[in-house]
Amino acid sequence: MNNPELRDLVLGLAEGESRREVCPFCHGGRTRERSFQITREGGVAKYVCHRASCSSGGRRSYGGMSPTNSAPVRNPALDKYMGEYTQLTDKYREFLLGRFEITADLLHYYGVRQAADGRVLLPLLHYDGTRKGDSLRYYPELSPQSYRGSKSMIYRPLDEVPLAWYTLPAGSSLLLPDYRSDTLIIVEDQISAMKASRLVDSVALVGTNMSMPKLVEIGMRVAATPRYKRTLVLLDADATAQAARMVARVRSLLTNVSMRRLDCDIKDTPYAELPAVFN
Ligand SMILES: [Zn+2]
Repeated sequence: MNNPELRDLVLGLAEGESRREVCPFCHGGRTRERSFQITREGGVAKYVCHRASCSSGGRRSYGGMSPTNSAPVRNPALDKYMGEYTQLTDKYREFLLGRFEITADLLHYYGVRQAADGRVLLPLLHYDGTRKGDSLRYYPELSPQSYRGSKSMIYRPLDEVPLAWYTLPAGSSLLLPDYRSDTLIIVEDQISAMKASRLVDSVALVGTNMSMPKLVEIGMRVAATPRYKRTLVLLDADATAQAARMVARVRSLLTNVSMRRLDCDIKDTPYAELPAVFN
């Protein structure tokens, strides 16, 4: 265990205990919120950080006990967002349309909701459209009153990879005439992926980091989808050395991958200009 703060947290847990703490990896960001959930059960500590910019997660065994001998740990509190949420109101739909050109029917198709605390709930979707978890995004324009936590939080079962797929079925009325079925794009955020899905199939990394489980899930999907002839990795303009490492990893696993650095995020680029970005 190479993070001494994590080691101290693990050693401080009693069997069966679950705690919410400040994350030993990201330290809870500016607000130092307790976004880190850790549970000890059957000789194993499982942990996850719900801040999207961190997304640390994993398991650690205690000395002398093998994790493979223990029963799997289930903690429903980690698995999904437990707060209240409703359909989007007109105010939210108008904001998302005006800011990103995302129409009400697209929001409805992907199950976007609004949480009682004012955040926007974006489901984390599997490739087949089923829901693996949620991310909650805070926009100050929509909920200026009370929310003080991270801008973006992720809720998912630990064994689910934090990737969000946005693909529309063949023949969908949401597809635009310039739709290209031969291309998969990889972008950082869900709003960009959702927007792009009317023109190309999209997957959002839900944060900037390209972990090996994400890479494996994308690689398996590309291998299982013969119509994908190429994969585009589209990086934000402020992408860093981390992004370069990410692309190197992707290239090691996928064939026919190209990378582009964007001058403007997909979500902030008008639809009229997007077909050229994906060509
Ligand atoms: Zn964290």
